[in-house]
Amino acid sequence: MSLTVSPSLPTLDARLPQRRELLTEVPGPRSRELQERRDAVVPRGLVSSLPVFAEDVDGGVIRDVDGNSFIDLGSGIAVTSVGASSPAVAAAVGAQAGRFTHTCFMVTPYEGYIRVAEELARLTPGDHAKRTALFNSGAEAVENAVKIARLATGRQAVVAFDHAYHGRTNLTMGLTAKTMPYKTHFGPFAPEIYRMPMSYPYREENPGLTGPEAARRAITQIEKQIGAESTAAIIIEPIQGEGGFIVPAEGFLPTLAAWARENGVVFIADEVQAGFCRTGAWFASEHEGVVPDLITMAKGIAGGMPLSAVTGRAELFDAVHPGGLGGTYGGNPVACAAALATLETMRELDLSARARAIEAIVVGRLSALAEELGGAQGPIGDVRGRGAMLAIELVKPGTTDPDPESTKAVAAACLAEGVLILTCGTYGNVIRLLPPLVIDEQLLQDGLEVLEAALRGASR
Ligand code: PMP
Repeated sequence: MSLTVSPSLPTLDARLPQRRELLTEVPGPRSRELQERRDAVVPRGLVSSLPVFAEDVDGGVIRDVDGNSFIDLGSGIAVTSVGASSPAVAAAVGAQAGRFTHTCFMVTPYEGYIRVAEELARLTPGDHAKRTALFNSGAEAVENAVKIARLATGRQAVVAFDHAYHGRTNLTMGLTAKTMPYKTHFGPFAPEIYRMPMSYPYREENPGLTGPEAARRAITQIEKQIGAESTAAIIIEPIQGEGGFIVPAEGFLPTLAAWARENGVVFIADEVQAGFCRTGAWFASEHEGVVPDLITMAKGIAGGMPLSAVTGRAELFDAVHPGGLGGTYGGNPVACAAALATLETMRELDLSARARAIEAIVVGRLSALAEELGGAQGPIGDVRGRGAMLAIELVKPGTTDPDPESTKAVAAACLAEGVLILTCGTYGNVIRLLPPLVIDEQLLQDGLEVLEAALRGASR
């Protein structure tokens, strides 16, 4: 019997039993049937991590159409922080849908949109006057943040970073760093996008480089290649998501933000993945006291309903002419009702505190395992992240060479045992953990045991 010394997560009510259970082979017969139908009508360009089809999702459990229960350590890519069937969100969605599902905010406005904007003005960093515009996806929020920054500054260049991910639309593909699978042969991409070196402590060529020095390195390039006077915006994920859960060295973000402020460059924090309690604070920018000019948000905001937002300085938004922003569905009333219920749930359950408790549990276990497997000479090169946005980077033992094959093998081994984990990273060698913030502690510990066994197996 092992003694649990980690901070325990208060147990929350759940509808489905919060346990892992495989009743059939994976995928089971009904999932295989659906896969055949899927292959006939859905393009292969769209891939799924799980080979099974969902039937019921609750808390930290995904039940498939064959009755198998998987532990969810992905939250649909950081979306279902409050769970995928939170009673509060479900009730709000049902009630709003019973009144009206859509009017188009640009045609007939409604209060829900205003209430979401009021919430975001309160929750985002900084006490300056703010405006919020609502959209549908993360990429759409990023597109609009760039539109606003360009118009407000009268400048065109946009700075993005190595390992960045900002979406799959044309502009956001251009902002995204990794070509395969996101960009290859999908060009031409939008002009006036410049890529700068990131602060990536584990892979820093100059290992002694501090965060401020890494920022100066990027700033020097910006000044040499673009010129501050031509730079509309810097866009950066405070913790990079798809690129590998890269936490920049301390001081990197504040130094960039300070330079942006001094030079009239709009500092855009893309908090699409890191926002809404995921990292143990409402926004990841807060960990270093950064106050972005514009923040892009989506994913965790509305308990799984499609909603995204740009919140930021009133004077930037107010530069935009009437009619310059919008979209048919942006700030859909059902999605707004879901967001209000989600934010209330986050407050009520103090999900930021839960994310920090999850960090203590996961980092404690995975750091111990990294040591057990050989420390710096072993297969786990780095354990990193904040809150419940955590990752391990797998390398060939004795080197820092990425090991995407064993990363894939570990993910597959977890899946075979009923644990869904996602991978990411420029080199495809990062296992990322994004459990729902409402996950049951026993379930999380069980999922980690399976992951640890898979990592031990892969290192043999
Ligand atoms: N920005 C970041 C930081 C993201 O992680 C993502 C999605 N993974 C996006 C933008 C794009 O969001 P969406 O898929 O909703 O367009």
